[in-house]
Amino acid sequence: MLKKTWSLDPRHDGRQTPEFGGPHAFNTLGSAGGQTVVGALNTVTHGGDFDRPPIADSVLAIHLVADGGKHYWIEPEMTPTLTDDSSLTQALSDLGVPMGAADFEIVRDSKLFNAVLVSAGRFGVIYSVILEARPQYQLYEQRRLFEWQDIKDQIKNHNSDLYDEPGPLLAVLSGLTGNNHFLQIVVCLTQHAFFSKNLAGVTKRWTFPISGPNPPGRWERVGRKLNFDPLIQADRFENAGNQHSYAGDPHPSLLDIACSHADFLGGVIQGVIHEIEEFVDSHGTLIGPALLTMVATGNAGLALLIPELLVILAILREIVNHLTPANRFAETMNAIKDQLLNPTPDPVTHGANRRAAGVFVWQLICYKAFASQQSDNTYEAISYAVMDQHDYKDITCNINVDSVEVFFDSVDDRLIAYIDSLINYEKQLEYGGRATVGYAAIRFTQPTRALLGMQKWPITAAVEVSCLKDVSGGENLVTYATTLALNPNFNGFLHWGQRNDYKVADVQRRYGDVLNGMPGDLGDWRAALSRITDNGLFDGFSSDFTRRTGLEVVQPKVNWVTVDLPEATLGQTVTINWEARSNPPGTRAALSVTAADGTELRLFDNLPLLGSQTYQIEQHGVHHFTIRTSYIFNGEKRVGSMTKDVNVVP
Ligand SMILES: Cc1cc2nc3c(=O)[nH]c(=O)nc-3n(C[C@H](O)[C@H](O)[C@H](O)COP(=O)(O)OP(=O)(O)OC[C@H]3O[C@@H](n4cnc5c(N)ncnc54)[C@H](O)[C@@H]3O)c2cc1C
Repeated sequence: MLKKTWSLDPRHDGRQTPEFGGPHAFNTLGSAGGQTVVGALNTVTHGGDFDRPPIADSVLAIHLVADGGKHYWIEPEMTPTLTDDSSLTQALSDLGVPMGAADFEIVRDSKLFNAVLVSAGRFGVIYSVILEARPQYQLYEQRRLFEWQDIKDQIKNHNSDLYDEPGPLLAVLSGLTGNNHFLQIVVCLTQHAFFSKNLAGVTKRWTFPISGPNPPGRWERVGRKLNFDPLIQADRFENAGNQHSYAGDPHPSLLDIACSHADFLGGVIQGVIHEIEEFVDSHGTLIGPALLTMVATGNAGLALLIPELLVILAILREIVNHLTPANRFAETMNAIKDQLLNPTPDPVTHGANRRAAGVFVWQLICYKAFASQQSDNTYEAISYAVMDQHDYKDITCNINVDSVEVFFDSVDDRLIAYIDSLINYEKQLEYGGRATVGYAAIRFTQPTRALLGMQKWPITAAVEVSCLKDVSGGENLVTYATTLALNPNFNGFLHWGQRNDYKVADVQRRYGDVLNGMPGDLGDWRAALSRITDNGLFDGFSSDFTRRTGLEVVQPKVNWVTVDLPEATLGQTVTINWEARSNPPGTRAALSVTAADGTELRLFDNLPLLGSQTYQIEQHGVHHFTIRTSYIFNGEKRVGSMTKDVNVVP
């Protein structure tokens, strides 16, 4: 963040240019707040705007402080340049940045910029960034409930309604322009209709002109200005960072309610009890709407379960009667799951009907809860109120969530296969007495320029698999989702800012480095890191994570070698000097003396990285003096070398 506003280029002075006045907004955001600006963009955090790249691509310049204390001002190459050197150095010098050549450098290099942009903190501290903003705008959001099986084939077709729907007529008349530019598909992993269907909430957004000085959502998410807070170096606002998410009216959404107290769950279970009671009391003839969806093709099989359903009814009534506002959503769901899927005595010995009834009612509860959370909704609000769906009052859901996010090309069949595999795994969990309360949310973006970005394709699909940790089964599902993504057959790309189990080989396979026989972005990223860290010598920002994932300099080098005699005679002593300190700690050096035919005449091992060695000439012909540096990373040894020749004359 810029701590101070100043004009870097007198031609673009915001104070005199009317179009720069007024409130501004991010072009896109992730779906939830709670992160820092740099933490979010440094991991390519994204939303579902499939017509634009993620937030990282709005960065225009980076102020980096590297290990050793040197400041870098990094911009991509562009004409004209974003800043002019004299205004920039003046502005930074005013902020106290030292201006000596060893302390500060302006770099205009797109590859370096695209490397630092997403770097897991490995390059150093990003002190500030310049972010491209646009005049504030509103968004119009619409959510509709579908079945996954009915829409999944449309994902590959970028001309389908999913990506190309004009806004509703009334909204168009009020100023909405263009077709939807945002798409999110949230898939309920718990099945219904006898294991044949899954609910899917489809959310779309359109851009809407700002409606007057008090657009909806501004008050609810920002509110009155309070005092300046030195901790965040900014003003505090009454409703910023402490309210429920905004979904079109002052009341919190159902999910928000579920996450802040137990009424929501009580309501869902009451609804389930009511439908089962009706069904049981009518001896299987009266079937409510949710039950009907669950059985899909008829209720004959369900009627056989009436005795077991009676037992379950008693259990559910007991749970509802004891629900209090203090009950956490996830813990209650876990208790319900244990009673339904994992009853004592063991369902295997107790009868198949008890197990079938338990799975059936569990699925019914999940169906109702998901249908409520993803129910049809339409509203418009100021952009950040729509894009930041974080519920800052949530005391249960998001604080104990396990999640992984996996990226695929949106036209790749593996995307659908991946989601369907998760659904199948969930089915297995349910029969093993475990289950997930969670979802797979698919969102779409354009490619990023960040070298290590996960968004590599014209439209990338990001699958976030997110589960409540307190419901046993959730972590199993996230582990399964991660393992499947890492399987070379799926080869999904993992989010850098969520659960990330990459090892070096996974990153090399996905991003490529010519050193591993696969030229690619990782190689360019490592070259950029080499430049900033003196080829890995400055390793203050190396971490367990960057070492595990291979975000390191791996290729050693030799800076220079000299010999004092370009020509020598027999018996003369040659002095060889070298410098090879620009290398990761642990790099070793050796000097090898070879004859013209390649025969090694002498090897000096375990030498310092800056040193000197003498050698007495004993035979005629050209002598090659080679300094070799070697560095072992992740079990692979790589070697750098430099050679100087001495011609031995009679
Ligand atoms: C509530 C919540 C909602 C989320 N929603 C989304 C979403 O909708 N879409 C999505 O894509 N992701 C989402 N995520 C993932 C999230 O965006 C990333 O995990 C993000 O990196 C978290 O930001 P942070 O500020 O906590 O950064 P941290 O986790 O602290 O840092 C993330 C990385 O950035 C580096 N870093 C941070 N600050 C600096 C700095 N100043 N200089 C150099 N390096 C730095 C760190 O070294 C680290 O490698 C969400 C996460 C949460 C907690």
